Amino acid sequence: MKNIVIFGPPGAGKGTQAEKIIADFKLIHISTGDILRNEVKNNTELGQKAKKMMHKGHLVSDKIVIGMIKNKIQKDINNNGFIFDGFPRTINQAANLDALMNEINIKIDAMISLEVNDKELIKRLLLRGQNSGRKDDQNQNIIENRIKEYSQKTLPIKAYYKKQNKLNIVNGIGSISDIFKKINLIIQNL
Ligand code: AMP
Repeated sequence: MKNIVIFGPPGAGKGTQAEKIIADFKLIHISTGDILRNEVKNNTELGQKAKKMMHKGHLVSDKIVIGMIKNKIQKDINNNGFIFDGFPRTINQAANLDALMNEINIKIDAMISLEVNDKELIKRLLLRGQNSGRKDDQNQNIIENRIKEYSQKTLPIKAYYKKQNKLNIVNGIGSISDIFKKINLIIQNL
């Protein structure tokens, strides 16, 4: 079993690379952004709670997100591994993920950090907004809020995984396949 965290700011290419990782390594994809968007679309109680924060580009509460992850892990416990995409986004989430996995005798094997500068991120997100219709990708203020949330609350997670010797930095600028080659090598060597 290989459990991977794909990490990076919004627009770094986490979802794109996660798809390729899943195809090669048959991992289960857990994207908290996708789960939350689905809850909002279905107008569930959870979706109603999360909606306001998502539309402003702020993080949804740790309590909501950690609860979602717990359900997902328990549902698919017997598999080749999980790829976490867009989670953890706070140190508290990272610590809770470790605790949850520890309870069932599994662990995160590697964190892959995709690094892209802010200017390129804004360009990519606005383009994605035009193509996908995602509302939070269409407004520069919301995008900047998301990048700010990332810098303030999410970036410290890198040090958390570095301390555990699990941090792998990959330049997120370049062709999708070149970036994937580097990621593939990291995962193969685990
Ligand atoms: P994403 O698709 O990963 O960019 O997530 C879209 C939005 O969902 C974010 O801007 C947050 O509002 C919310 N979200 C997704 N994942 C998390 C998380 N792990 N913790 C808190 N909020 C999250």
